[in-house]
Amino acid sequence: MTDIDATTCPNIMAIRDGIPALSRDIHGKPLIYLDNAATTPRPQAVLDTVLTYESQFPANVHRGVHTLSGEATHAYEDARRRIAAFFGGGELVFTRGTTEAINLVAGSWGETNLGAGDEVLISALEHHANIVPWQLLCARRGCVLRVADVDDAGELHLDTVIDAMTDRTRLLAMTGVSNALGTVTPIAELCATAKARGITTLVDGAQMVPHMPVDITAIGCDFFVFSGHKMYAPTGIGGLLSSGAQLEAMPPWQGGGDMIRSVSFADSTWNDVPWKFEAGTPNVGGTIGLGGAVDWLSGIGMDTIANRETALLADMVTRLKSIDRVQLVGTPSHRAGAISFVIDGMHPADVGAMLDRHSIAIRAGHHCAQPILERLGYSATARIAPAFFNTEAELEATEAAIRRIIDVFG
Ligand code: PMP
Repeated sequence: MTDIDATTCPNIMAIRDGIPALSRDIHGKPLIYLDNAATTPRPQAVLDTVLTYESQFPANVHRGVHTLSGEATHAYEDARRRIAAFFGGGELVFTRGTTEAINLVAGSWGETNLGAGDEVLISALEHHANIVPWQLLCARRGCVLRVADVDDAGELHLDTVIDAMTDRTRLLAMTGVSNALGTVTPIAELCATAKARGITTLVDGAQMVPHMPVDITAIGCDFFVFSGHKMYAPTGIGGLLSSGAQLEAMPPWQGGGDMIRSVSFADSTWNDVPWKFEAGTPNVGGTIGLGGAVDWLSGIGMDTIANRETALLADMVTRLKSIDRVQLVGTPSHRAGAISFVIDGMHPADVGAMLDRHSIAIRAGHHCAQPILERLGYSATARIAPAFFNTEAELEATEAAIRRIIDVFG
């Protein structure tokens, strides 16, 4: 066991044993999974919660009078309560993930509150999910999308965002952590500054939730959105957290079963919040799995996870910096989750494919964040995205593999 393992999480090997995908061999060698910014592997404890639902009470929620439906409804609503508590409270609307939650806010809040000339302010760091829904909204409503730039290190400064605010700014929609560069933004200060000017705030928390304790009250945003699969839950489940009053004031977004109180051909009335925004049969298994994931994460402790990941990231940054032909893309002072880099003379896709031959899984490409890569002068990077379950030995093996690739192919 290395120093990082011993000091930050002594039972890390037992935790790893509880994540089945980590015991796979790829091309004859044990998998080193470093693509956690794309999605995280699912622990057996999470899979078990989903399997219990799917095998023991695979019923629809809120509708049935029979026992199985009652059990499913209880498990679904209890997961909602635990997940909201994990993030410090608020009303939780389940969505497919971050992308759908942002589209919900654009389609409901945006359609009713934004008009011609109003401005939506994002940052240059945003994932496409926090760009395109606003472009579509602006095209429909005649509003304007403004972008606060970053510096050449990929850092977002409060002053730059303030400079980009005008008396027409109605919404600040920004990420807490960049998935492409790993930049941690000053999100609470950004929200406080916006709020003081009467600007509504949305925080893209997709890359925050697996890496740090999140308290939406401390962040102080109006909307917080996230994806379950980035925090050890299955795909297809995530959420929007907001206040009851905010959600009450918004019209439904999608129509269908479960979101109504009554329906006639003349008109319909809406269910209470949060169900008003959950049309149709929800992803019950995924929701229960997400509940299992927050229990699993709470058992380990988000502070433990954050401390360990800080140590692992610093270690990997030092290793990459020690390799001659490696350039880091983005050198933020406060980093979480991801390190982007390029190797002189090699395409990132080739780097990714060659690392895969060494059983190392990383991401190569534009990371669904084309504008920030373009801003820094790249069309693609290789990205190492460690999580707390990775070990120093795996980072050492990754450094060795990169050096070998450069020797052999460079
Ligand atoms: N925002 C950020 C910062 C992300 O990293 C991602 C996923 N890569 C998304 C939004 C979109 O998440 P999803 O695809 O789960 O909806």
